[in-house]
This record gives sequence, C-alpha cells and structure tokens, in this order.
Amino acid sequence: MAKLKLEYIWLDGYTPTQSLRSKTKVLDSSKFSGKLEECPMWSFDGSSTEQAPGGSSDCLLKPVALFEDAGRKNGYLVMCEVLSADGSPHPSNGRATIDDDDGDFWFGFEQEYTLWVDGAPLGFPNGAGSYPAPQGPYYCSVGASNAFGREIIEEHLDICLESGLNVEGINAEVMAGQWEFQIFAKGAKRAGDEIWVARYLMERVGEKYGVSINWHCKPVKGDWNGSGMHANFSNTTLRTAGSKAVFEEICEKFSGTIQECIAVYGADNDQRLTGLHETQSIDKFSYGVSDRGASIRIPIAAVQNGWSGYLEDRRPASNADPYKVAAAIIKTVKG
Ligand code: ADP
Ligand code: MN
Ligand code: MN
Ligand code: MN
Repeated sequence: MAKLKLEYIWLDGYTPTQSLRSKTKVLDSSKFSGKLEECPMWSFDGSSTEQAPGGSSDCLLKPVALFEDAGRKNGYLVMCEVLSADGSPHPSNGRATIDDDDGDFWFGFEQEYTLWVDGAPLGFPNGAGSYPAPQGPYYCSVGASNAFGREIIEEHLDICLESGLNVEGINAEVMAGQWEFQIFAKGAKRAGDEIWVARYLMERVGEKYGVSINWHCKPVKGDWNGSGMHANFSNTTLRTAGSKAVFEEICEKFSGTIQECIAVYGADNDQRLTGLHETQSIDKFSYGVSDRGASIRIPIAAVQNGWSGYLEDRRPASNADPYKVAAAIIKTVKG
C-alpha cells in the first residue's frame, strides 16, 4: 500500500513579515484519495513560531486548500490556516479576515522577487558592493548577459503548473536577477492560497540550486527597481460596470483607507513607493488610466471594454501577505 506525503504549509507569527513553515504528514493511501475533506486537522509548536507561549504551545492547522506536489513522489501540498487551541482563528491568520465567502472577488497578483546569492542578486558581479550595468536591458530579456537564473524560474513554472496552480505568466523584471510570476483566481482566499503555495515552491526550487529567494521590496538600494505584488482585482460591479463613474467611485473609496491599506501592503514599502521606478509615493494617493506612476491604475483594456473590467492596485509590496492585501481591498470596496 502506498504511503502518501502531505506537506502541511502555514504562516508563522513573525512581525512585520510572516514566513512560510511546513512539515510532512505521512498517510496511508487507504485513508486519503486526494480530497481536501480527507486532510486531518493537525497541530504544531507555536512557541517556536512566535504564535504561542511555551506553557501552552499548541496551535492548530486547518487544511484549506489542496494541491498535488509535482516535485515529490506521492506528494501533496496542504495550505493551512492557523487556529488557536480553542479553534478560533489565530491573530496571525490573515486569511480568516477576508470577507469574500461568495468568491465574487477575482484577484490576479503579480509576484515579483529576486534570486539571491552571497548577499546580492543573481547576476550581480562579485557579490555585495559590486554592480552590473545600469538597469534597462534586463526587463523581459533573453541571453546570458542579461537574464540570470532562467533554469530556476522555468523549473518553478513547471512545478507550479503540474501541481495545479493557475500561473498565468512569468517574466524577467527590471533589476538583474529579479523575476515575476502572475497568479489569477476567482475568489480572494483561493488567490492568496495559490500565491503562498507558489512562494513555497519557489523557495524549495531555490534550495536545489543554492539560491535563496529575496522577497524584500527594496533589496538593492539606489537606482534599482524594488519588488511589488500588484493586486489586480474585480468584483461583479467592476466586471459589468459599463460606466466610468463606477470606476471612479471605487477608486475614490481608496482615498479614505490609505492608512489601513498601507499598514498591510508590506514592510519597508516606504523604500519602494518613492514616486520613482513606476511607483507613486507612499504618502500620496492617485489613480489614472494607464498610469504606472499612480497608486491605482485603470487598465486601458477596461476603458476599451466600455468601462468594464478590473483595477490594479500597484502599492502592495512583494513581501506583503496576499490574504491581508485582499482583505483590505475588499473591505475598502464594500465600505
Ligand atoms: P502588467 O505587468 O501590465 O501590470 P500582468 O499581465 O503582469 O500586467 O498582470 C495582469 C494581471 O491581471 C494578471 O495576473 C491577470 O490575471 C489579472 N486580471 C485580468 N483580468 C482580471 C479581472 N477581471 N479581475 C482580476 N484580475 C484580473
Ligand atoms: Mn506584470
Ligand atoms: Mn512587474
Ligand atoms: Mn502590474
């Protein structure tokens, strides 16, 4: 009888940026046929993850999304919410704060990140303190002079697709060694689940190559692009608006929730949202059609489509928690 390997994945309690943790549960194939409902609840030592005191250390893992693990024999990936011992959502559990039970919100996250070796991006010469030619040629580049780490990101793409993640595309980004993948899902929770599992797989593929993944939003100071996680979102209202006024009304709502949004859009985002490098500064709010220097961009496609479609909030950083980002956006739109 086959033994199955279920990797339970959750977020720790570190602040201001939570990290991935995981451990393996081996199940007999007689007890598991590949359905989420069959994944048992589990627990872990919350005192080792800043989620509980040592004296009462148990936190609970509640399986919420299941994927195949294309990189592991008989493997599955089980994304979990963290609950306190009494079964209530743990304070670190951003997913539980998302108000989208009907799945009306669709999200497409553009996750940027930097491949990192010896304290510098892959492709930077001689590690920290040395710089390659100024940025310009690296974005969507091909060729060994400008594209660094393709083998790694190709392996990541394949493993994501084979595991059932809805990756919609990948591209080399503006800084050397910086890349992006996009994931789309109908339902905010599902989109967050897929981003976190894709991050997990990115970390794991990186291990094979001795390359770590730097999720920081401004990994190299100076005239180098930071890393974002643009949040493209829509609900039925936006998708069927047919009205410029509806788009503007929703954009205006965000001018009233700047602090709430920025609070969960990622640590050190002030280093990235400077008004340079295709960003609006962190203390300003603006929106505009096709405007990549705005906080929120109205894609030209929405206009061409008779003012129906989606919006792009460009402020979320690469190191933000997509669950908390989605929760803040939904709260703003519904507010
Ligand atoms: P850019 O780099 O030009 O900002 P990308 O192509 O990288 O754009 O990302 C655009 C994202 O928008 C994709 O992830 C896509 O899934 C998402 N998207 C497209 N339509 C919708 C929609 N109706 N609702 C939410 N997201 C959407
Ligand atoms: Mn993009
Ligand atoms: Mn990008
Ligand atoms: Mn974008």
